[in-house]
Amino acid sequence: MSYSRMLVGLGVSPGIAIGPPLVVENRPQPVLRLFLSPDRVEAEVQRLHEAAARAAMALSDLAAQARTTVGHEYASIFEAHRLMAEDPTLLSQVEERIRRESANAEWALQEVIQVMLGQFEGLGDVYLRERRTDLLDVAAQLQRALQGRASPRLGEAPDGAILVADDIPPSQAIQLSSGSVGGFVSEAGGITSHTTIIAKSLGIPAVVGVAQVVPAMERAAMVIVDGFEGHVIVDPEPALVQVYRLRAEEYQQRQRELLATAHLPATTVDGRPVELLANIDLLHEIPAAKAGGAGGVGLFRSEFLFMQASPVLPDEDQQVEAYSQLLEAFPGQPVTVRTYDLGGKKLARELLGNPEDNPVLGLRGVRLCLRKPEFFRTQLRALLRAASRGQGLLRIMVPLIGHVEEVKTVRVLLARYGEELRAEGHPLPDRLQVGVMIEVPSAALIAKHLAKEVDFFAIGTNDLTQYTLAVDRANEYVSELYRPFHPAVLRLIHRVIAVAHDAQITVSLCGEMAADPLAVPVLVGMGLREFSLHPAALPVVRRLVRALSFREARRIANRALELATAKEVEEYLLEQLSALLAHVKVRIRL
Ligand code: PEP
Ligand code: MG
Repeated sequence: MSYSRMLVGLGVSPGIAIGPPLVVENRPQPVLRLFLSPDRVEAEVQRLHEAAARAAMALSDLAAQARTTVGHEYASIFEAHRLMAEDPTLLSQVEERIRRESANAEWALQEVIQVMLGQFEGLGDVYLRERRTDLLDVAAQLQRALQGRASPRLGEAPDGAILVADDIPPSQAIQLSSGSVGGFVSEAGGITSHTTIIAKSLGIPAVVGVAQVVPAMERAAMVIVDGFEGHVIVDPEPALVQVYRLRAEEYQQRQRELLATAHLPATTVDGRPVELLANIDLLHEIPAAKAGGAGGVGLFRSEFLFMQASPVLPDEDQQVEAYSQLLEAFPGQPVTVRTYDLGGKKLARELLGNPEDNPVLGLRGVRLCLRKPEFFRTQLRALLRAASRGQGLLRIMVPLIGHVEEVKTVRVLLARYGEELRAEGHPLPDRLQVGVMIEVPSAALIAKHLAKEVDFFAIGTNDLTQYTLAVDRANEYVSELYRPFHPAVLRLIHRVIAVAHDAQITVSLCGEMAADPLAVPVLVGMGLREFSLHPAALPVVRRLVRALSFREARRIANRALELATAKEVEEYLLEQLSALLAHVKVRIRL
């Protein structure tokens, strides 16, 4: 059997998708300064105006399409961008620069935009700073039009199209939920990048970290995405397409069989119960979490509410509705809402204005919320109001904690907003828990002190790995170094579980590791009793826990904790898991 070309990356969201490629280039392309001969200047000005007209038309199409798919808020953004793209003042400045400097249009545009951005610099007004973001977006559209590159048009994807991108920011990835994209391939990304997490939530097969995938798509008519193996096959032979269609059906059948066991308790063979909760990014995942037998929600990434509504902030009432929807879906069970974890790579330009040099180490998570008291107040009030409706148990979880003072401040704010709500005549919740994510090494190391301030810990191994190993979780150049089974990460996890047990508070783990079959025995063996994972992985993890004995798991954990390298740990766990599975009928991607 032959096929034209196979590219290899990291399979990050299981499943197989087959369809035509939809190529999107998001990374800015370098702009060169060219010196034009005098007789070419007029033609260059003409080229600028033609590109502006094309960009305006593309934006107008996007607005029309957004109106029918994602609603008026998005449509009005594209409309405003269209007006900016054909703004005579902007264009005349670029034109003037082309003439004055005999420069190419791309360079002249870049220079004019830089000057305009400089004028926004230091402006305190949020509205004006948002205009800066708009200006950047419009500049990117104009550059694309000048360079003859297509603009991303996710909503227009033909049914089952495979999105192929150099990079795709989470804010764009969430648009996939309203589209018909069947699969997803990108040059950037790692196993725990937020875009990957969204692909999993949406059940879209995905392969990331595929070098040079965009140029490989030139003239390609069809692509297979194998999210199990991390393979991307360009223009496959018809016979190969058949083979993959069969594999896709087989996978779906297996998923159906696993779902049929969702009601069984996740208890080890020697009787140790393990709670399996769901990670939910978008509310429409609630049915999948219920079908997978989730015993509650271990992580609701509330920032996606914000990203879906951006640039309009969801108001207090809208947030109360969203949190209540979760509480009503899981009556009597814990529902953990993580306060906004914006910043880093997750859309915070609206809030911050100026980009940071190193956003992953910057104003992210709780740090950003504490800098934006009004913004945080809306969320905390909404959480308190939802919790007081008397459904289930709300657990408020604060991300990116690194200092005890941060938790204390959040507690003070909660008390203050509680008082405020009481004075306004709102009832207050009878039960409410406050906890923190342990995802920064400093938090793991001061866990004993943090435990005195909170009701629970949730270990976020996606970030804990990133920050412990100093490896950007979304950077394909260092993805080989991103190893959650590195002994340093394992030791921190072990320590946090032990501290939580001593302090008698709940501890769960909600990073992607919770869904990794290799990790299940070692985590159970370290004493972890609560896992939170994306809904699709619940059945497999349940099956695994039911095949384990706690005694055996403890032995595995003790041995794993003695090993020196990530490779040794992975090989050891693979060997143990294979032995364990020899008698269990569960096919797992290893
Ligand atoms: C984590 O860091 O492990 C986590 C669950 O949070 P997120 O992936 O949203 O950063
Ligand atoms: Mg995190």
